[in-house]
Amino acid sequence: MPNCPYCGKGIDQSRYSVPARVRQRDRISLAHLECCSLEDLKGVLKVRALREVDFFRDASELSMNPSLEKIADFERKYGDYYELAESVADDEISVAAVVAELKARLRS
Ligand SMILES: [Zn+2]
Repeated sequence: MPNCPYCGKGIDQSRYSVPARVRQRDRISLAHLECCSLEDLKGVLKVRALREVDFFRDASELSMNPSLEKIADFERKYGDYYELAESVADDEISVAAVVAELKARLRS
């Protein structure tokens, strides 16, 4: 289990069930949302939004002109059904956690 790079405590010792992926120098680390800077939190949301734009474009293209080759590319990029069914990551709760922390910061 990694430690939060900001406070040094275990990444599971957070008030949120999901950590943030933050860029530190040239690598990505997991950090507690409550330890992240405002810039970190905004960056997490921006990365997620850009990924959604990619997903929208790729899924739209696939829906208009599906082929086994395009499906293979799509699954390579986003994972196939069986990989995702095994995944514990929940993108919706991740975004909700970042927004909750942003709300807490803006209110204080
Ligand atoms: Zn921390």
